Amino acid sequence: MVLGSNEVVVPTERIEEWIDSVKPRRILVQAPLGLRNAIPLIINVLDRRGVEAYVSMSPTWGGCDVAVREARDIDADGIIHVGHTQFLASHPLPILFIEGWYSDPEPLLRLAPKVVELLRGYSKVGLGATVQWTTHLSKFADELRNAGFSVLIGAQEGIRIIHSGQVLGCDYSSLKSVEGNVDCFVVIGSVFHALGAGLVSDRRVLSVEPESQRATWMDDMVRKIYSQRYANIRRFKESRRIGIIVSVKPGQMHLGLARKLKSLLERHGYDADILITDEVSEPLIMESRYDAYVNTACPRLSIEDQARFSKPLLLPSEVMVAIGRLKWEEIIGKKIYLSLSLPEV
Ligand code: SF4
Repeated sequence: MVLGSNEVVVPTERIEEWIDSVKPRRILVQAPLGLRNAIPLIINVLDRRGVEAYVSMSPTWGGCDVAVREARDIDADGIIHVGHTQFLASHPLPILFIEGWYSDPEPLLRLAPKVVELLRGYSKVGLGATVQWTTHLSKFADELRNAGFSVLIGAQEGIRIIHSGQVLGCDYSSLKSVEGNVDCFVVIGSVFHALGAGLVSDRRVLSVEPESQRATWMDDMVRKIYSQRYANIRRFKESRRIGIIVSVKPGQMHLGLARKLKSLLERHGYDADILITDEVSEPLIMESRYDAYVNTACPRLSIEDQARFSKPLLLPSEVMVAIGRLKWEEIIGKKIYLSLSLPEV
């Protein structure tokens, strides 16, 4: 079924099949703000099948952020989660992920001549997209091939990247799989996703936004972010009391990483506490006991949300630079930059 204004396809037949297999009695439906108009469609299907439906009103930012605790609190037998693909290998209750695809490739294909123009001077192009555009990637690749480019679509990788070329704000392994064979990347969907690619790759990244019909090289934005991040590392070095933030969101919880960081920081003369939260909010960062913070939740909080916070919110890789275990040049433009695991050094 196609939803009106933003034309995202919600495959109701998948919901029917899932109900047949799970046989739920009560379901929690969850969608990010931009896709909440899918909820009435899903509730209709559930009503028709005699399944009790509840709607989660908590924000959700990714497949990492599934409302498992809410579902348990209301004694639901499962969750239907819209807008994202599965992030964790398993969950304690059945979850149907409905990513939702844009039905019409036309806004993307209309941008092809502009993209071809911007890619002049390159010959080998790596292609990736947010999940909502992955179904149209091969058509767009053909447009670029017809214009003379060699095009590689990133591979499916691991459990999180289930579509060829799919990118997440914290996972660019599909692009990384072809990085060695391309001169630059084109990332379709949003500046947010293209910027992330620019932060973990030394290749230039062109952001293509079909909805706004914009195509923009990310270089300036990447440079600006790096310079802000380096300034935050400097401020962190002058701090002593550190709060290491751990989120309880199912796919964002990295308690083992937080423990390792605490021990590392203490060995380098810092006082560090592990702080448990759901959302990373301004009141938490304004907490007067801490001079600076380390982020083990969604890595993009340190990039997109740092401006809201008055204190440094470092990524684990940046902490390694702050304590002198890694050089800045060893993390920028590399996968480790947004990584939530520590290298052995
Ligand atoms: S970028 Fe953040 S919100 Fe998005 S999937 Fe990764 S951890 Fe979740």
